[in-house]
Amino acid sequence: MSTEKRSYRVGVIEGDGIGPEIVREAVRVLDRAGEKFGFSLDYVPMDLGGCSIEKYGIPLTQETVSQAKSCDAVLMGSIGGDPKTSPWYQLEPSKRPEAGLLGIRKALGLFANLRFSVLYDDLKDACPLRPDIAGEGIDFVILRELTGGLYFGEKRTKTVNGEEVATDVLSYSESEIRRIAVKAFDAAMLRKKRLTLVDKANVLESSRLWRKVVSAMAKDYPEVELDYMYVDNAAMQLVRRPSQFDVILTENMFGDILSDEASMVVGSIGMQPSASLAEGTFGLYEPSHGSAPDIAGQDLANPLATILSAACMLRYSLDEEEAADAIERAVMRVLKQYRTKDLKAEGDGTTLVGTARMGEVVRENLVYRLNDF
Ligand code: NAD
Repeated sequence: MSTEKRSYRVGVIEGDGIGPEIVREAVRVLDRAGEKFGFSLDYVPMDLGGCSIEKYGIPLTQETVSQAKSCDAVLMGSIGGDPKTSPWYQLEPSKRPEAGLLGIRKALGLFANLRFSVLYDDLKDACPLRPDIAGEGIDFVILRELTGGLYFGEKRTKTVNGEEVATDVLSYSESEIRRIAVKAFDAAMLRKKRLTLVDKANVLESSRLWRKVVSAMAKDYPEVELDYMYVDNAAMQLVRRPSQFDVILTENMFGDILSDEASMVVGSIGMQPSASLAEGTFGLYEPSHGSAPDIAGQDLANPLATILSAACMLRYSLDEEEAADAIERAVMRVLKQYRTKDLKAEGDGTTLVGTARMGEVVRENLVYRLNDF
């Protein structure tokens, strides 16, 4: 058996606002996981967004793109400032922080976005759904196609018979559908092996192609139970019985809307990790929340969404499943006792902690298996 230590190259974008504080904690958790599970991580610091504007006058440099391409995966905090007060928002739109994010997604070919929605037992009060519905458990992921469909199709407005007519084209090719469906089936295999394709196949030709391609692929994944749901029904089912979902696969616009609905269903923004994946195993991992400039530098930010994003990186890009599980279990365990301010409810019996202490207690709780504790 090889005794060679597994080693990975990870790009780190601290970003703006609370970014440096939350990424610091996630990196420390990764290092501890590496020590326990026998791998090492080489970090490559990279600039993006506001901090890149400060240094180079633009939100994304070619250097950052090349560095990211040399890595196995990238972990990111969050970018952007307060649009009302930050001078970055006086710049033309193509030079603002968000342009850097769109630019890096495009440059790295990140076509699949994954947003994870988990309702933790100890945070059930954050869920706006009825207790009997929340009580069934919520743990699903939405895979949204990120680079095609209506948002990227041909757009035109012209005058017809004296009035303006606007058109947006919704188009998908078989290969665009297939490459994200592979990610969805693979994600289902790592989870509860249930995949729901959400579409509008009763009226949209593009949705019918999605069904055709995805159903043909199902024979390569005999263990995955595949079903189909119209998007209007899916929007209802997400609040009626979210426990039925494991992996949801859908096109760009449906995914945009459903993933925001999903973040409300589980309540706290400080808890939601996300991943954007390219061909192969490369991915960029970041919390779903923004850079929270209102609380930056005050040790108030909840680092758990970033720590959970790091766990996703271990699972989906680095194939370190055990370490990913251990981090997720550690987060569940610390929530029983510790809360950052955004999660704290009066009289809940937990201890209020800051960003750094929250990272520390996650590290202290990193163990191999539940019964090791
Ligand atoms: P936001 O998510 O940064 O903040 C919304 C509210 O949630 C704020 O009150 C904030 O304090 C709180 N919050 C967010 N994350 C938290 C955390 N980890 N712990 C505790 N509280 C947290 O959204 P916003 O205020 O609309 O945007 C701020 C900046 O972030 C803007 O520049 C925006 O463009 C940017 N942004 C970036 C990304 C990204 O990098 N992917 C995503 C969304 C927003």
